Amino acid sequence: MSYAPGQEPSPAVPRHGRLAGFGVLAAALTVTALVTVLLAIGAPDGVVVATGGLLALLTLQVALWQRQHRLSGALRRSQDSLRTLVRSSVDPVVILDDSLRITFASEAAGSLLGLGVTDLVGVHVFDTVHPDDRSGLAGPLDGDGQAAVRTARIRSADGGWRLVQTTVRDLRADPDIGALVLHCRDVSPSAPAPGADSEPLELSLTDAVTGLPNRTALMRRLGAVQRGPRNRSYAMAVVGVLCSEVLSPGEEATVLRALSSRISRVLRGEDWLARSSDGDFVVLVQGSVADAEAVAERLIATVGPLTTPTGTLPVTAAAGVSQLSADVDPGEALRRADLALRSAHRAGAGAVHRYDDALRTEQDRRTALRADLDGALARGELRLVFQPVVDAVLHRTVTVEALLRWRHPAFGEVSPVEFVPLLEETALITDVGRWVLGQACRTVAALDGGGPGTEALNVAVNVSARQVRSGELVPDVLAALADSALHPSRLLVEITESVLLDDAHVIDDLAALRGLGVRIAVDDFGTGWSSLAYLVGMPVDVLKMDQYFLADVEHDPARRAMCRAVLQLGSSLGLPVIVEGVNTAATLTLLRDMGHRYLQGFLLCRPLEAEALARGIVLAADALDPAPPVR
Ligand code: C2E
Ligand code: MG
Ligand code: MG
Repeated sequence: MSYAPGQEPSPAVPRHGRLAGFGVLAAALTVTALVTVLLAIGAPDGVVVATGGLLALLTLQVALWQRQHRLSGALRRSQDSLRTLVRSSVDPVVILDDSLRITFASEAAGSLLGLGVTDLVGVHVFDTVHPDDRSGLAGPLDGDGQAAVRTARIRSADGGWRLVQTTVRDLRADPDIGALVLHCRDVSPSAPAPGADSEPLELSLTDAVTGLPNRTALMRRLGAVQRGPRNRSYAMAVVGVLCSEVLSPGEEATVLRALSSRISRVLRGEDWLARSSDGDFVVLVQGSVADAEAVAERLIATVGPLTTPTGTLPVTAAAGVSQLSADVDPGEALRRADLALRSAHRAGAGAVHRYDDALRTEQDRRTALRADLDGALARGELRLVFQPVVDAVLHRTVTVEALLRWRHPAFGEVSPVEFVPLLEETALITDVGRWVLGQACRTVAALDGGGPGTEALNVAVNVSARQVRSGELVPDVLAALADSALHPSRLLVEITESVLLDDAHVIDDLAALRGLGVRIAVDDFGTGWSSLAYLVGMPVDVLKMDQYFLADVEHDPARRAMCRAVLQLGSSLGLPVIVEGVNTAATLTLLRDMGHRYLQGFLLCRPLEAEALARGIVLAADALDPAPPVR
């Protein structure tokens, strides 16, 4: 259905009329009665038939007329309600027919462009759109039945351009509407001052993939907001989207478009959405930083698994928020929100972090550490410490885990939790990882036979995912074993769960290590992908249960159940389980009662310097059964 130029939109909605039913019934009864009377008085057959036919026709005519009357009443009422709806919308609304000509423009649409509504009617929509932005709009206007959000420059009466964000709803298949409906918002970087020329928008201000305002538009808008009235406060939320699967550029574009539509739908009228150059979504929120947090949480909640023609993609998001203030320039405001976003990403999916000065200090420290890591090994600032893993049945230390330490000249001891992820950002992790392997094997081999329990002591080495992916792990292990003369079966390589979901070549490398006799342990087991199916058939020999399961295990029945479940899983797969993080006597008792055999934790022994290792491994085993207190 299309609308005549200048008319209000007129959807058709049926409405009943009970009287109409009575009319038809009455006419039918009259026909029957008349025919009966004519027959009764003995009228000739021809007269009876002619009269009956005539009256039947009349009845049909009455029925048709009543139906017509009913429909036009419905039509009038629907027109009234749509007119009210469209008029009450503060945002401009434009309706297009199949040939993309404007059949209706609301008053807000006219005033946005400085035109009367009748000036717009009959115009082809592309005649109003900047030539460079037409292709972005073409897809949604071709119509796939889905709502899509696009941003384009639209020419205004003064010859300038307004940047307009449009939600295109293809309602052509809807029998009540039968048209394309465009809900528009003026998202020009700055609203023109009364009487002033609108800003020329010749630069490309839209993001090619999503059609949203791009970084240039965002910076202009931020500048305009900061120059604007002081009595309004603004904050910014930067939403970063992550997908754990590798996407082709086409898939990525599909995901981003779907997300921009989802996000646009949950924004409030006064929120302003853009896409920054590094691909994050940015929302300018009119209100406090707490308002921005609330908006960010709502947006994140809409980002979830996406169904595409090739399957479901696991998409998640996190957000950083910052307050805009007059003394902070737009670039710095964006950097602050970015910083908060990075901190949120580190905290995990769904996190919303707020920028504060501590975050800046943290960032400065990270930047300094990143720079100083290069050369830390050569300067002799890195070393290994070793933490015993004790066998509660044999009462002896069976393995020591090599743990990396960095003594920074200015910051002192830096935790591997802080610096290993920085190493992993660059190829440095491969060099450091190679050194760790060599040093760990050498230290344990050198200890051999040097005291009780030292013979056949195993050593566990943490290997990062990037190191495994580098393809250099197998030659590095071979070199470390050859150099130290340690038997391969005494080396345990610890990987994280995610590595097992990696490419086939990674799995092949792990299998090759096992072929040499080296054992593979899954570290931090239970915190990663939680899919146990992947373990079957994988080149794995040992599970290391994450410390998370031990937090409050004495009082929390759910954690106890999980500890039992991991143990059972290990035994049904034929894999020994090492429990990490045993640090209270009560936990130790509980774990031993459950049947856990291999234990590691501060209660038994803290990580030891290499020189303290020979004595430390004996003390760790002794700590299994502390001597009764001396009276
Ligand atoms: P991880 O491999 O899971 O190592 C166990 C961590 O738990 C160690 O922290 C250890 O000191 C700590 N731990 C042991 N028992 C207890 C306990 O009873 N209570 C508590 N609260 N903690 C306990 P550390 O040495 O700070 O290492 C942290 C992480 O850094 C390691 O976790 C590992 O993921 C990584 N890492 C350490 N060294 C290396 C390395 O050489 N290469 C790589 N790629 N990563 C390493
Ligand atoms: Mg480990
Ligand atoms: Mg661990």
